[in-house]
Amino acid sequence: MTSSGLSLLQFDNQFTGCLPGDPEEKNFRRQVRGACYSRVLPTKVAQPRLIGYSREVAELLDLPPEPIDAQEFADVFSGNVQLDGMDPFAMCYGGHQFGNWAGQLGDGRATNLGEVVNSKGQRWMLQLKGAGPTPYSRTADGLAVLRSSVREFLCSEAMFHLGVPTTRALSLVLTGEQVVRDMFYDGNPQREPGAIVCRVAPSFTRFGNFEILAARRETETLQKLIDHTIHVDFPHLGPPSPEVYEQWFAEICRTTADMIVGWMRVGFVHGVMNTDNMSILGLTIDYGPYGWLEDYDPNWTPNTTDAAGRRYRYSQQPQIAMWNLVQLANALAPIFDSVVPLQRGIDLYSTHFNEACQNMLAAKLGLVYDASLDDKALSDDLLELMQEIETDMTIFYRRLATLKFDGGVNASEQDVENAFVTALADALYKPEQLTAEYRVKLMQWIHRYRARVDQVGISDEHRCQQMNAVNPKYVLRNYLAQVAIDKATAGDYSGIQELLEVLRHPYDEQPENEHLATKRPDWARNRAGCSMLSCSS
Ligand code: AMP
Ligand code: MG
Repeated sequence: MTSSGLSLLQFDNQFTGCLPGDPEEKNFRRQVRGACYSRVLPTKVAQPRLIGYSREVAELLDLPPEPIDAQEFADVFSGNVQLDGMDPFAMCYGGHQFGNWAGQLGDGRATNLGEVVNSKGQRWMLQLKGAGPTPYSRTADGLAVLRSSVREFLCSEAMFHLGVPTTRALSLVLTGEQVVRDMFYDGNPQREPGAIVCRVAPSFTRFGNFEILAARRETETLQKLIDHTIHVDFPHLGPPSPEVYEQWFAEICRTTADMIVGWMRVGFVHGVMNTDNMSILGLTIDYGPYGWLEDYDPNWTPNTTDAAGRRYRYSQQPQIAMWNLVQLANALAPIFDSVVPLQRGIDLYSTHFNEACQNMLAAKLGLVYDASLDDKALSDDLLELMQEIETDMTIFYRRLATLKFDGGVNASEQDVENAFVTALADALYKPEQLTAEYRVKLMQWIHRYRARVDQVGISDEHRCQQMNAVNPKYVLRNYLAQVAIDKATAGDYSGIQELLEVLRHPYDEQPENEHLATKRPDWARNRAGCSMLSCSS
């Protein structure tokens, strides 16, 4: 029994209860066949200490907004202590990494503790990331370091508050142990503090869970996993049937498209869109070397491992998601009588993405997309312009919202121009790029935009409100995360919770936090962790 309310968590473990598991009980690295998971206990750690807690995720689990007993909480969410009803396991999955089939991957450092059903009847899988080796750890240690855990903890919650579908993070716990990492892959391994994030999602099933079973021609297990997923995670579809399979795949295509539209809207670049990092629920999952666009550069990728091919660059995320869906379709094909329904899903992805993306781009301008007008060109031309000179995307849209067109006194073109050039200064990384020639092009665009706004007759105030509801002011700029990490590495963990507080209200003005909404400082331009990240975590 625990005194802190943790014992009230109600576990109902459907994944381990209903699906075939690995009969081998010993924890050693191996190929696991004919199973969806292997039972494995988290490795005990020396000195767990709670340094990050999300009250919103706690609420999802009916836990209090602050832990009642932080030490007991840390003991449980480091994996040192198991609660009654937990049934820890690691999932078996495969995946396509950087376009190539990689075979079995699996939860190499994640341990699922079990499924909690809350008072509203919602189901939440609890998963520790960095809790020690599993049968799927391959050559690695099963651990995670503080810097990558801070990034995962903060970004999961930041994305949620931005309204982008994501897995969540309940807590961040230091293990009190050191982990060796060669951060730059340059033969200089360092000892870094170890940490564990407790991730929370309705399900952590990935495209790769299906792919591995299809690749091994384990069709019976594949069928079970599909039916189980529909039953537990898509109950609104009803009992499995050929029609339901088609609807299911269509829903995966649609939610994946919506997730990508969310990423494009807020300037998020995942960095490792391998099929093992694609959630069946269309949730952003596995926060590794992700990054946030600062200057609008569609070719930017935060991942050093991806620097050469830039497969996972910002602008290519929509196509990669589709490529990944095609891999999933291939894996699901054995239970479909024909590939036609799968092809319909892929087509739906394209049409749904294009439509949602146009709506999103128009909404960023405070408009409702109208295909009969020039709205597509209006958005596209702005994005063209934005990348011509180094412009901070996040700041740019917030400044665009401040433009006064009606102005009460019918602001003249010159007034609008002057006001905008002044407002824009804070968004430019190289102010000297704002040449007279560029200014002319920008103003031509602003005048087109003004004409479009006039056409709908939306007031400045209303337009500003609409725009600020979809264009965040506060995002987890790469350097902000790094500053919190540097502080934490020096033993001061306050920056993590402070940043989380700000990111809980990303669309609000928060005058006291203005300094956290400014463009990336020059010192961060080429610093590790601020502009580029390796996969080492
Ligand atoms: P990722 O690219 O981080 O999504 O990881 C790809 C695969 O490598 C997954 O199967 C992970 O579980 C595994 N993996 C990554 N880091 C580690 C680690 N430190 N120990 C064991 N497995 C790992
Ligand atoms: Mg992964």
